[in-house]
Amino acid sequence: MTAPCAIRIGVMTSGGDAQGMNAAVRAIVRAGLREGAEVYAIREGWQGAYEGGEHITRLHWSDVSGLLGRGGTTIGTARCAEMRTVDGQRQVVRHLVERGIDRLIVIGGDGSLTGARELMLRWEELLGELVERGEVSAELAERHRCLRMAGIVGSIDNDMVGTDMTIGTDSAMHRITEAIDAISSTAESHRRTFIVEVMGRNCGYLALMTTIAGGADYTFIPERPPRDGWEDRMVQVLERGRAAGRRDSIIVVSEGAKDRQGLPITAQRVRDVFVERTGEEPRITILGHVQRGGTPSAYDRWMATACGVEAVQAILEADEGSEPVLIGVDGDDVVRRPLMACVESTRAIAGMVAEGNYAEAIASRGKGFATMIDIYRTLIEARPTVTEQRGKRIGIMHAGALAPGMNQIDRVAVRAGLDRGYSMVAIEGGVPGLIAGQCREVGWRDVEGMAHIGGARFGTRRYVPTEADLYPMARALEDSGIDALLISGGFHAYATVDMMQRERHRYPAFNIPIALLPASIDNNLPAWNMAVGSDTALNTVVDSIDMVRMSASASKRAFVVETMGRTCGFLPLLGGIAGGAEKVYIPETGIQLTQLAKDVEALVDAFASGRSFYLAVMGEETSTHYTSEVLARMFEAEGHGEFSVRQAIVGHIQQGGVTSPFDRITATRLGHAGVDYLDRMLQEGRAEYGAAESGVDGLMSPARRVLEGMDWTNQRPYEQWWLKLRSVADELSRAPGQSE
Ligand code: ADP
Repeated sequence: MTAPCAIRIGVMTSGGDAQGMNAAVRAIVRAGLREGAEVYAIREGWQGAYEGGEHITRLHWSDVSGLLGRGGTTIGTARCAEMRTVDGQRQVVRHLVERGIDRLIVIGGDGSLTGARELMLRWEELLGELVERGEVSAELAERHRCLRMAGIVGSIDNDMVGTDMTIGTDSAMHRITEAIDAISSTAESHRRTFIVEVMGRNCGYLALMTTIAGGADYTFIPERPPRDGWEDRMVQVLERGRAAGRRDSIIVVSEGAKDRQGLPITAQRVRDVFVERTGEEPRITILGHVQRGGTPSAYDRWMATACGVEAVQAILEADEGSEPVLIGVDGDDVVRRPLMACVESTRAIAGMVAEGNYAEAIASRGKGFATMIDIYRTLIEARPTVTEQRGKRIGIMHAGALAPGMNQIDRVAVRAGLDRGYSMVAIEGGVPGLIAGQCREVGWRDVEGMAHIGGARFGTRRYVPTEADLYPMARALEDSGIDALLISGGFHAYATVDMMQRERHRYPAFNIPIALLPASIDNNLPAWNMAVGSDTALNTVVDSIDMVRMSASASKRAFVVETMGRTCGFLPLLGGIAGGAEKVYIPETGIQLTQLAKDVEALVDAFASGRSFYLAVMGEETSTHYTSEVLARMFEAEGHGEFSVRQAIVGHIQQGGVTSPFDRITATRLGHAGVDYLDRMLQEGRAEYGAAESGVDGLMSPARRVLEGMDWTNQRPYEQWWLKLRSVADELSRAPGQSE
């Protein structure tokens, strides 16, 4: 029996389902239990609260096992008309207090969160009525006289003000990008035009971002209805693209797109325009519910998990009368915002679009959204917007290990450079390629198709120049007439630029503007939160963990999974959180024997109490002594035959794979920002070095300052934002002796 005064938290998913809702529920249940609360699922959203009874059930640690990788929501969701009535809400209050629940975490869209707020405002009044009617005792009402609330936005539309991303959006982008990639391969073979309709209701985020990530040619979004005459302009832009060498054309239409008269621009309407003007018959693909389906992406798993843990903290800290909070993300941070203000601002955007205040609507969607519209315009146009040639040459080079997304950086950089009237030169094979004079001028057509392919078509090398290389490097830069340099890559790229900076007084050829961009699966670079490639690698780690988990499903087995990442714990920590690891070991903290002894105890205890799977994740350079093999043997020895233990090294596949939408988008933003910086420097006659920095205007800062953030000895930045997520991993690891 539980003590009557135990804190009880109710959790529900409501409205449209979204991938990652399960991850949030799992985190809420486990963090709640860790904090000593009881957690109840309110099944089928508000409908379950309205119907009560078996819709409200207590959840235990093992009830949410294996949930992370599942799409949709296993506790169910529904729409509930009664919730909009006072009678319905009164019944909801009764069902909740009868079960002793006065803290509620609602995961849903703006509708569901509005419902939550309504309930909170009326709670006291409705409770009073229930006492008057004799349906609830005065004593019970007194014990639960106020409702504490937190909301987490679950919606693939990414339409909520107050959070940069909503749960499900990233996974939906995966589905759409996979579809665009697949369509492009067939469209290319037949020189066809395809029209793809995507979801998003009143928000064009999904359409805009996947147009960029998928390398599509044109898009229609609600926030930016095309001016009259758009039909001819669209056909012209696509024809110019074809003339410049494109084999296919893909148009992405957001389901809420309209023209300036407010008439919907549907896929069919766009098709009719084509048939009428060109005789060509484009094929239509309406993606529909595929976008809500499939396994959640790595981001939707770790972000939803972090938000779930934060929601539990917020609701346990809330005082009587506290404003309900929305748990969201702001850049790197999980944040709490006033829920109602966010819902109201979100609703206001729909009004702005309806009234024709498009600029305001775009601004309200955040700065990134507006910038992406500009970038999109550059990318689709196969002719420069700057007509006079600047007569300058920008070189593009990679350094360091391969990172998925390098191709995307190059594609955008080449097109953005050509757009501004520069000649673009690919330096093939990194620094050694430069020294060997492997430079060739590239055009719009040379980067065609690079939106879809992982790897680096222009090559890269893990090589930092030696003293002896500096002179030939300088010569090569002069010989190939390079006026500015865009370097992207990992640790080696940063070390190369650092060296050039220190030696530039000796080599005049180094006195050119340089833009340094982060591309590394290790995510071990200063000033930038998610280096290009790191999200793709994280998805590979999570996919591998899913497979490991499945392989173990028929027996009692523990796994020690080893990820890449060198001396940086980003991949193992976030891979561990997203993959559902019980324990994560990272190089920053290493492994201590005393801790290990406790972990072994927890592991043995978990199997003894009925668990059939246990997962530990560690980074490749976590400890020279306690390697993944040593750990696996140690676990096996302590299991005394009760369970088996296997080691799994994820390995180099982490550098391969199809670049994730997030990495493609980051690559696009960075490639564009890098060229923007070089353009500015060249026009102003300045020869400064810049490096990418998250969150600053234009995304570029002086390289000297950025490089100061690098701990060269440990080969990772001094400051690593993601280390704060260690507490999330700890909250979700089961303590020895903790009941299931
Ligand atoms: P979403 O949460 O995805 O925006 P809906 O708008 O359909 O989805 O809302 C889901 C549920 O939330 C509704 O079926 C209803 O039960 C509840 N709800 C929505 N708006 C309100 C409101 N203004 N007052 C009370 N409940 C509401």
